[in-house]
Amino acid sequence: MLPQRLMQGHRAYREKASGPQRVRFAAQARAQQPQTMVIGCCDSRVAPETVFDADPGELFVCRNIANLVQRSDSPMGDASVAAALEYAVLALAVKHIVMLGHAGCGGIAAFARRATPLSAQNYTTLLEQASVAMSLRHLRSYPCVATAVEAGSLTLHGAHFDIRTGALALYDQHTAGFIRVA
Ligand SMILES: [Zn+2]
Repeated sequence: MLPQRLMQGHRAYREKASGPQRVRFAAQARAQQPQTMVIGCCDSRVAPETVFDADPGELFVCRNIANLVQRSDSPMGDASVAAALEYAVLALAVKHIVMLGHAGCGGIAAFARRATPLSAQNYTTLLEQASVAMSLRHLRSYPCVATAVEAGSLTLHGAHFDIRTGALALYDQHTAGFIRVA
């Protein structure tokens, strides 16, 4: 038996599926056509669908600890990330890939604790953002991504989500910094 909370949640979901939204559910059953792939963290507080208020079918999501993408030729590479990337770019032809980092990331904090920062709070935020920028660079090492970006059919974005305030900051490739969305 599933936890009671999940059973209740599924009943609520089924009620929506049988109401006015049933046309949308039927359309989605035929195929998925998301325009955007999001690579995010497994953290339970940072569900991309929630952060972007997205409906089913809108986002193609890949999540791992600390939202990391290794270079395509790295021995540390994650085959499931590579497979998700290729499917999103080659089969679904997504127009955007968003690297979504977040504040209070346990994966990043675990790394930070082994370092000796002068200012732990600021250091961790900078590390979270640097990790997003690094994964953005690594994305381009995948031939399918590089080809689509050069053709102008795919745009890469970096973002950092602040769980405490709900604010989102976007990576600016010109300044290599993050700018908070108004
Ligand atoms: Zn995280």
